[in-house]
Amino acid sequence: MEVTPNHTQTVTGWAALDQESGKVEPFIFKRRENGVDDVTIKVQYCGMCHTDLHFIQNDWGITRYPLVPGHEITGVVTKVGANVSGFEVGDRVGVGCISASCLDCEHCRRSEENYCDKVTLTYNGVFWDGTVTYGGYSSVLVADKRFVVRIPDNLPLDAAAPLLCAGITVYSPMKRHGMLRSGGSLGVVGLGGLGHVAVKFGKAFGLRVAVISTSPAKEREARERLKADDFIVSTNQKQMQAMTRSLDYIIDTVSAKHSLGPILELLKVNGKLVLVAAPDQPVELPSFPLIFGKRTVSGSMTGGLKETQEMLDLCGEHNITCDIELVSTDRINEALARMARNDVRYRFVINIGGNSSKL
Ligand code: NAP
Ligand code: ZN
Repeated sequence: MEVTPNHTQTVTGWAALDQESGKVEPFIFKRRENGVDDVTIKVQYCGMCHTDLHFIQNDWGITRYPLVPGHEITGVVTKVGANVSGFEVGDRVGVGCISASCLDCEHCRRSEENYCDKVTLTYNGVFWDGTVTYGGYSSVLVADKRFVVRIPDNLPLDAAAPLLCAGITVYSPMKRHGMLRSGGSLGVVGLGGLGHVAVKFGKAFGLRVAVISTSPAKEREARERLKADDFIVSTNQKQMQAMTRSLDYIIDTVSAKHSLGPILELLKVNGKLVLVAAPDQPVELPSFPLIFGKRTVSGSMTGGLKETQEMLDLCGEHNITCDIELVSTDRINEALARMARNDVRYRFVINIGGNSSKL
């Protein structure tokens, strides 16, 4: 496709400029003018996903610098193109991990744009016009209407922001594997951004939920605030053994290298583990716990646009939001450092718009 960017809007943001610093700094760049199918969004909030940290540090070896991270974006529409009918100026909207796809393959036609082999990520992707995409650590976003969702009126834009990635990433496999029915038991490994939303969804849909964590200090909150039924410290053999063959499903959100072996032992025979985490090193997958329990390990990558809207609407109905720590734009690096040492309850959200109260 011809590279003819109509990129004349000046936008302020925050970018990682190289792999070495591990930080972001103020960055002025250009975005395209609002096209006929586009929606321009004044960004109010952007969640900080562990994926942002992986990309900033070039953990996966695919980062294009300068990198403007951010794919848990909420804000208000300020402009709509001539072909846009679903959105109006003033609407409260969100953009997640995806900003374009081919629109024509079997996956796109089923609104599984996330599995299109031409999927363009909201940052570090290559857009239709050939330019590299810049994410939500920025004041303004121009997004194609097909990749924008509505935030239900009753959800605040800050605590809803992480639903755009953390929320849909756990919701999609929960739905696909039939977990959203009461009566089953779910283990959530890693109580961070993704994990804490998985616990909330599990409880909202009537599951018995066990948190499997490396952080004993999270137990009280997990039980009292998040209403987890069980809390197991994964390094405690006794606790792990007591839970052997007790769970129907597990969602693994651990951002660092680990073994699935001990975790698989917690599944019942025929149980299912969904790996959503993406550590920079391969996870260990020993065969014995897999074959002796006829267990399944599968993966899942965020979710399609239709499913994202469905998840947001359900969150509206059940009043589900994320537990966040709001960060001002001059403290993004502090938050990144805390995320790297597993010190966040449970998602940092950048107050891009500088709002003093929840929108
Ligand atoms: P996060 O908020 O940092 O949470 C990760 C959790 O993993 C931590 O809270 C911690 O839980 C556990 N953990 C961290 N370091 C660990 C270590 N060294 N050993 C054992 N456990 C450790 O991260 P997140 O934003 O939820 O993202 C989690 C992972 O999912 C990342 O790899 C991210 O890139 C990936 N991701 C994938 C998708 C997808 O589409 N599949 C979407 C978004 C994110 P405890 O303290 O409870 O042990
Ligand atoms: Zn994410």
